[in-house]
Amino acid sequence: MISADPSIALGSSVLVLNRHYAAVHVIAARRAISLLYRDYAEVIHIEDGQYANYDFESWRILSELRQFDKQHDDDWIRSVHFELQIPRVIRLMTFDRVPRTALRFNRRNLFARDGHCCQYCGRTLPSHQMSLDHVIPRSRGGETSWENIVCSCVACNTKKGGRTPQEARMKLISQPKRPQQHPLLAAKLRQEKYAVWKSFLGNGGGMLDAR
Ligand SMILES: [Zn+2]
Repeated sequence: MISADPSIALGSSVLVLNRHYAAVHVIAARRAISLLYRDYAEVIHIEDGQYANYDFESWRILSELRQFDKQHDDDWIRSVHFELQIPRVIRLMTFDRVPRTALRFNRRNLFARDGHCCQYCGRTLPSHQMSLDHVIPRSRGGETSWENIVCSCVACNTKKGGRTPQEARMKLISQPKRPQQHPLLAAKLRQEKYAVWKSFLGNGGGMLDAR
């Protein structure tokens, strides 16, 4: 039905609430529009501190009015006949079709937690140039856990070798911990355009936090 604008709009993220307004997931805009169009979800839109609910049709009409007053942070998609603002928050109408996001212990989330920043020298590098280091080496009984794995550049990893930071005289920039909030969610929340999500996340990020 909707042809995607070649912009990044459809790649933007949408916070999903369950029927009880509890945040359960973050999904891509493309999927959110599809849920909305099929009446599985409605838009929750916040303006002046109040929020209002819109089904697809009323959101389309509101979008029509708002297209002359676009804010720089807004994302839009264009179909043949109309433009639609990408909502930031939607609420599921029936049951939770979208499962809770568990915090997985994996490279992607470790890199996101440490901001792709080597925890020894502070250099920020892309994923393919980054490695993971056991702070206490495995040979000394160091665990593979949030508390003992850090992002490290290859140079620092090689320099440290099978030693502890003290032995290698290398200081950690920060003590590794299990994140309180999903690292990818935390990264989104640092962007102004997702500020509205905070209203639904409560203390420490609600649903998407560690499990
Ligand atoms: Zn380094």
